[in-house]
Amino acid sequence: MRHGSIPGARGRVRPLTLLGGGALRERCREVTDFGPDLASLVEDLFATMYAAQGVGLAANQIGEPLRVFVYDCPDDEDVRHLGHVVNPRLVEADGVVIRGPEGCLSLPGLEAGTERYDHVVVEGFTVTGEPVTVHGTGFFARCLQHECDHLEGRLYADQLTGWRRRRLMRQVARSSWCR
Ligand SMILES: [Zn+2]
Repeated sequence: MRHGSIPGARGRVRPLTLLGGGALRERCREVTDFGPDLASLVEDLFATMYAAQGVGLAANQIGEPLRVFVYDCPDDEDVRHLGHVVNPRLVEADGVVIRGPEGCLSLPGLEAGTERYDHVVVEGFTVTGEPVTVHGTGFFARCLQHECDHLEGRLYADQLTGWRRRRLMRQVARSSWCR
């Protein structure tokens, strides 16, 4: 395999922003500069996501309030989806709504049954500014909705209501990392 072809191989593992910290609750800024800083941010996102054994990671989870996320995520047919999107727009979200287990690297160790559409289409750009369209179904559609939400300052906890939300918030309060 060609040197450097593994995403994140040249990246730096960065500290994760946990719930309550940093820019997690802010709407991220559009990327306007498709230069080397963006390429190294994407590499750092991959390195950090893999180190934390996640399936997706948004830039504000490592303290950069920019509209970028990366993913390496299976769908319900176990097909692997690997990539990144800059300035993503969720242009379609439809199909049935499915409640399934969802977690987040910014709320480590926790998960909750969260409602998401089964099919989405995301449009955006690659790190070099080429247009890209990503189609997702099942668990991968869930991942894409989760990462798009991050860039708006939203978390999966915001999708929850009733006892599911109360239970998650209790678990957050009890967690070792909660400040
Ligand atoms: Zn997350």
